[in-house]
Amino acid sequence: MKNRGYYGDHGGAFLPEILVATFEDLEAHFEKIKGDPVFWKEYETLMSTYSCRATPLTYAANLTKKFGGAKIYIKREDLNHTGAHKANNVMGQGLLVKRMGKRRVIAETGAGQHGVACATMAAKFGFDCTIYMGEVDVIRQRPNVFWMEQLGATVVPVKDGTRILKDAINEAFRDWVTNMDDTHYCLGTACGPHPFPEMVSYFQSIIGREAREQILDIEGKLPKKVYACVGGGSNAMGLFSGFFDDPVELVGVEAGGKGLDSGLHASRLSYKDSSPGIAQGYKTYFLQDDDGQMKETHSISAGLDYVGVSPILSQMHDEKKARFESATDQEVIDALQLTMRKEGIIPALESSHALAYATKLAPTMSQEQILLVNLSGRGDKDMHTVAALAGLNFEEQK
Ligand SMILES: *Cc1c(COP(=O)(O)O)cnc(C)c1O
Repeated sequence: MKNRGYYGDHGGAFLPEILVATFEDLEAHFEKIKGDPVFWKEYETLMSTYSCRATPLTYAANLTKKFGGAKIYIKREDLNHTGAHKANNVMGQGLLVKRMGKRRVIAETGAGQHGVACATMAAKFGFDCTIYMGEVDVIRQRPNVFWMEQLGATVVPVKDGTRILKDAINEAFRDWVTNMDDTHYCLGTACGPHPFPEMVSYFQSIIGREAREQILDIEGKLPKKVYACVGGGSNAMGLFSGFFDDPVELVGVEAGGKGLDSGLHASRLSYKDSSPGIAQGYKTYFLQDDDGQMKETHSISAGLDYVGVSPILSQMHDEKKARFESATDQEVIDALQLTMRKEGIIPALESSHALAYATKLAPTMSQEQILLVNLSGRGDKDMHTVAALAGLNFEEQK
C-alpha cells in the first residue's frame, strides 16, 4: 500500500492500522471498475438521466466581444443536479458503494455543498447517511443543513477543535474506524489518502472528456488554454485530464483572498507560503507554519477555503505540467458581476476565480485562439455573500 498512490513526492496513504484493510478493499473495488466500459456506461446513463450530462459548452459571445481577444467558452457544470460538479463524484462513489455491498455513507462538509450532494446520492440509492460538519459551519450554513436533513441525512455538529471543516474530517474518520464493515466514507474532493485522489479525479474526468469532444465538434480545434478553480482540486483534475495528451496549457486558479501578501488567502501552489507536509492521511503542499501547524486560510468562496490540495496537482505543479495562479476576492466579485450582466449566467464564487483569471488573459490572445473555462457550479448558494457586499441584508429587510 505504501508505494501506491504516489505522485512524485506527494500522495500516499498514511492510515491508522485499523483502516488499512478497508482502504485495500476500496482500492480493489475501484481497480475493478476503473477503465471498465460497462461501469462507465452505467455511470454515464445515470448522469444523463439524473443529472444534466452531457453539460453544454457555451460560447460566451458577449464576454469575448468585450475583451476582444481569444474566444471564450464555458463548460456548464453549474447545470448539474444540486448545482455543481460535486454530483459527478458522489454519484460515481454511490455506484461503487452498491458494488461493495455497503449500506451506509458518511461525509464531511464545510460549506455544505458536498453534504447536500452526498445526502442526495444516499436518498437516490437508499443508503443511510451521516454528515459531519463543524459546529461553526452548521450555524453559518443553516439552509444546507436544513436540506440535508430533509433529504434524510443525519447532520452531526462537531464540537472539537476550532469546529470547522478539518475537525469534521477527523470526526468522519473516527466514525469510519468504528463502522467500516457497512460504511463508506464519501470524500468530497481529489485529496486524502490513496485511492481517493485518483478515484475522485476518475469520476470527474467526465468533464474533460465531454469538453474536449464538444470543442472539437464546434470549432474543429483544441483550446489554447483551459482554466479551472482549485479548492481540493477535483473540478480542475476533471477538466485537465481531458487534455493531458494535448498541446493545451492547463491553468488552475486558487483563492487569492485579500491579496497574497496579506496572509489572508488559500493559495498553496501559486504562492510561496506553502510547504510539503503530511496531514489528513496524505502528503501534499499545505499552508503551514514552521512547526507544521496548519495556518488559517481565507477566501470569499467557502469551496476554495482549504489548507491542502490534490497531490496530483502538486506533482503537476512541481513538474510544470500545469500553471497555478490566483484571483483576489475583489477580482472574483468583478468577474461574477460581469458574467451575470454579459452572459446571463450566475456563476458560483469558486468558479468566478477561473473566470477572473481567464478574462484577464483573453485580451492578450488572438481572436483565432480559444480559452475554455470550467464553470464548476452555480451561484445561487452565494446570494447572501454577494448581497452583503452590495450593502443588502436580507434578514433586516423582512
Ligand atoms: C466545492 C466546490 C469547488 C471546489 O472543489 P474542487 O474539488 O477544487 O473542485 C469549486 N466550485 C464549486 C462550485 C464547488 O461547489
